[in-house]
Amino acid sequence: MKQREVYIGLGSNMGDRDANLQAALNLIRDIIDVQIKDMSSIYITEPWGNKNQEDFLNQVIRIETYLSARELLEELQKIEIKMGRQRTEHWGPRNIDLDILLYGNEIVDFPDLKIPHPYAQQRLFVLIPLEEINSEIVFPDSGMGIREVLIRVLGREDENLIKRID
Ligand code: ADP
Ligand code: MG
Repeated sequence: MKQREVYIGLGSNMGDRDANLQAALNLIRDIIDVQIKDMSSIYITEPWGNKNQEDFLNQVIRIETYLSARELLEELQKIEIKMGRQRTEHWGPRNIDLDILLYGNEIVDFPDLKIPHPYAQQRLFVLIPLEEINSEIVFPDSGMGIREVLIRVLGREDENLIKRID
């Protein structure tokens, strides 16, 4: 087994959103064979899809792990369940959402596990914190660099604005 550099996206728009991110980080830190190497700032993001809900707090972290992508997904889903995540509508409110954005340079394409994450190259709440951590990222599926992707998405009009909390 090889150690991989993996990026995880965290999101919360229910309850005490800061506490939810912190609790999820602590639980990720407790996963055997996972080391948190880097953390982005926290961003406030207007929800898309169903707009009738709280803004999200979003953050991206970089970890190193020997776990397979599927083992890591299972660990993250255990954390979502432990934190009492209610699975309701697809783009609806959630107290915690943990997504594997990138797993080394691998492309994974199963119905229940897609890496790079399907919205990683479309949503600013992923791209901006990713670029903050590592501006050299290249997406293995499109072959595009993060800056290039970010500029393209920033040029679109339908994007919601995101702000940084200092
Ligand atoms: P979303 O994150 O897209 O808003 P959910 O968190 O409800 O939606 O995830 C729905 C399903 O997405 C999960 O059950 C999981 O199997 C699947 N999934 C596919 N690819 C990934 C990934 N890279 N990271 C996390 N979940 C993923
Ligand atoms: Mg998710």
